[in-house]
Amino acid sequence: MPERISAHAENKGRSLRFIHPKLPSWHSVQRLYHDAYRTSQITNGALVKRFEAAAAERLGVKHCIAVSSCTSGLMLVMKAMQLKGEVIIPSFTFFATGMAALWAGLKPVYADCNPATWTLDPLDVAKRVTRRTCALVGVHMYGNPCDTESLSSIASMTHAKLIFDSAHAFGSNHFGKPVGGFGDAEVFSLSPTKLLVAGEGGLVSTNDATLAARIVAARNYGDLGAYDPDLQGLNARMSEFNAALALAGLDAVESKVERHNQIAANYTRMLGGVPGVAFQGVNPGDVCAYKDYSVLIDPDKFGKTRDQVAAALLQSGYETKKYFYPPLHQQRILGAHHSSEMPPLPITERVSGRVLSLPIYSKLPSKGAREICRIIRIQAQAHTVQ
Ligand SMILES: *Cc1c(COP(=O)(O)O)cnc(C)c1O
Repeated sequence: MPERISAHAENKGRSLRFIHPKLPSWHSVQRLYHDAYRTSQITNGALVKRFEAAAAERLGVKHCIAVSSCTSGLMLVMKAMQLKGEVIIPSFTFFATGMAALWAGLKPVYADCNPATWTLDPLDVAKRVTRRTCALVGVHMYGNPCDTESLSSIASMTHAKLIFDSAHAFGSNHFGKPVGGFGDAEVFSLSPTKLLVAGEGGLVSTNDATLAARIVAARNYGDLGAYDPDLQGLNARMSEFNAALALAGLDAVESKVERHNQIAANYTRMLGGVPGVAFQGVNPGDVCAYKDYSVLIDPDKFGKTRDQVAAALLQSGYETKKYFYPPLHQQRILGAHHSSEMPPLPITERVSGRVLSLPIYSKLPSKGAREICRIIRIQAQAHTVQ
């Protein structure tokens, strides 16, 4: 959902929206949707199929199944795989990753993230594998591809399934291949805060035909047409209007990724050398879609906490976010599955406790980005002078 800027920030005149989804032209959407509307085929029609085919081609995978959201897609993938037991997920992620596991009847086991890339750390995952582990779920954080190879070897050694929550990663590349074909299945989000927008929607991508067929059934109450469901499903279909939006937006993904990379590079350059500011590491050769751009503020070296920096920016009308704080193991519902007897999550706590997400979207004025960086620099200098 586009987040509303606070009234306080809006009053300041030079305020910036944190999120500003760039939608395809209304004309292009209308042109696609026209026939669906005219024939009243507004669900279970041709547009969802067209979108699935176009997405599969774009991602270089055999099967794409459009669903109502990334959360429902993750739930259905886990259900369709008939998983039971424990699923290892990062604690540093959006809570939907954990909620999907709960809805699929699984116990989430939280693993730490890598201090450089902020994605699921395979070394820490290996330490948490038990006889009950049935799946690993990696999250391509902000679009930064996970260490898919190491996770894949752990998954095959332990006979666990490998799933990616790719909510942020439509348009990302890993080893020259689009994210979407890694692991047993990947699940994208098409909600308005992501690069490809369907309004609400998700997309499952997989090269496994059996799994794909099961997800097609699962999104339709579990029924494949026999009026006698094959598996436990729900209604998680995508409507034709949502498919029209996604289809119309598909061609713009590449330029959005380019623009987001430009903005990210500018932020990194302008904040380079500020003591106590750290950046996300992207492996050379990979493309991060930069659904979000975040820095870490180390209070000891910077002289102020992340929250103090966020408050100073808001004072000047610049809204920021803390993607993602608190980490899952410290939340009320999801944290109930973590206990102090389990190995700690020090990197997650450090990253999540310091993370500050800056606005990033195609129309972001470069003046605004420069001003944000100037304010952050002043905050750091205020400390150095004291
Ligand atoms: C946005 C997001 C989701 C949820 O996507 P929906 O389409 O809103 O269900 C899941 N995981 C992550 C990491 C996200 O950022």
